Amino acid sequence: MSLPTFKLLLPRTLQDAVSHLARYGGNIQVLAGGTDLIPSMKQKLFTPAYVMDIRGIDELRGIHVVPGTGVEIGALTPLSTIEDSEFMRRNYRVLYEAAITVASPILRNMGTLGGNICLDTRCVWYNQSLQWRKSCGFCIKKDGDLCHVAPGGTRCWAAFSGDTPPALLCLNADLEIIGPRGVRRVPLSQFYTSLGDAHLKLDPNEMLTRILLPESSAGWKGSYQKLRIRGSIDYPLAGVAVAFRKNGGPVEAARVAITAVNPSPVLVPGAEHALIGKQPDEHVATVVGELAAKAAKPLTTSGLTPEYRREMVKVFAKRAVLAAARS
Ligand SMILES: Cc1cc2nc3c(=O)[nH]c(=O)nc-3n(C[C@H](O)[C@H](O)[C@H](O)COP(=O)(O)OP(=O)(O)OC[C@H]3O[C@@H](n4cnc5c(N)ncnc54)[C@H](O)[C@@H]3O)c2cc1C
Ligand code: SF4
Repeated sequence: MSLPTFKLLLPRTLQDAVSHLARYGGNIQVLAGGTDLIPSMKQKLFTPAYVMDIRGIDELRGIHVVPGTGVEIGALTPLSTIEDSEFMRRNYRVLYEAAITVASPILRNMGTLGGNICLDTRCVWYNQSLQWRKSCGFCIKKDGDLCHVAPGGTRCWAAFSGDTPPALLCLNADLEIIGPRGVRRVPLSQFYTSLGDAHLKLDPNEMLTRILLPESSAGWKGSYQKLRIRGSIDYPLAGVAVAFRKNGGPVEAARVAITAVNPSPVLVPGAEHALIGKQPDEHVATVVGELAAKAAKPLTTSGLTPEYRREMVKVFAKRAVLAAARS
């Protein structure tokens, strides 16, 4: 499979990047690590006239501690930088645990946190070559008008399959976004839609610049557990992030989020209430598992059955609560 033809843009500053976005918005694709975009372009899932490689913009890299505020992580920061950071492991455990499960060591060296957040949704009917998709009559997400997963329906249910966003939801992260109209800050919890074919609230002329973690989430106990076919490299087919604050007594604050079982990563309703004021024991972990499974709406978008994936959300949520308690 070859890449489609495109013009490569190589901005060195954010200002240059914004000028390109303003000029070519709608026909431009941001390239960060390229670990997802390049294979997708080879499959002709994306055929932009312009590809903007942002790797020359140094200010988009790095983990910066801002005393009294929290941590700012550049969108271009490789996942391996989070993996190698003792500060992140100690202070933002759930994000560290999610980052180390992404793909493989080589892909984590290339793949960035921003790319993981903006990752396209996945479906067995979509992540295929042009010929494969053509032979099936295409589908709503790309080039067609029917859904093979929910025939008769008019919407796409492709699953968001990034590992770090559920962890970032648990940490109450904000995103900084830049575009021709300036800079805006948005809570990650408001960044995703529930549509598989238009899952980001990001205009075509905007890009993600920084991820902001509040100091109030530092030091929370955390764990991330995921289901995948090949333990050494695969995307999640179900993933659960759990984080809570606990200082010797019962849980004081908590969040639980799931990924890969809905078109967006979602916070589990009721999980906070189930954990706060309690000891995170077997019983509480089982209750959280049931709540997480209730929030999961897997469909036949992957090689594993929806029933198995929902059941594993329950199992992994329980394990994550108990593992977080030990962290
Ligand atoms: C074999 C294999 C296994 C994988 N396994 C996993 C896995 O287990 N878990 C997982 O989460 N991912 C997995 N991935 C996907 C990918 O490697 C990671 O998600 C990675 O973090 C993507 O980051 P990137 O910088 O390479 O993104 P890119 O490929 O450069 O971009 C991905 C998407 O995000 C957009 N984008 C990137 N940066 C920005 C920005 N700053 N602003 C706006 N849009 C932006 C791009 O336009 C593109 O649409 C896997 C990929 C492969 C090939
Ligand atoms: S859920 Fe339906 S529309 Fe979406 S990618 Fe899969 S088959 Fe296509």
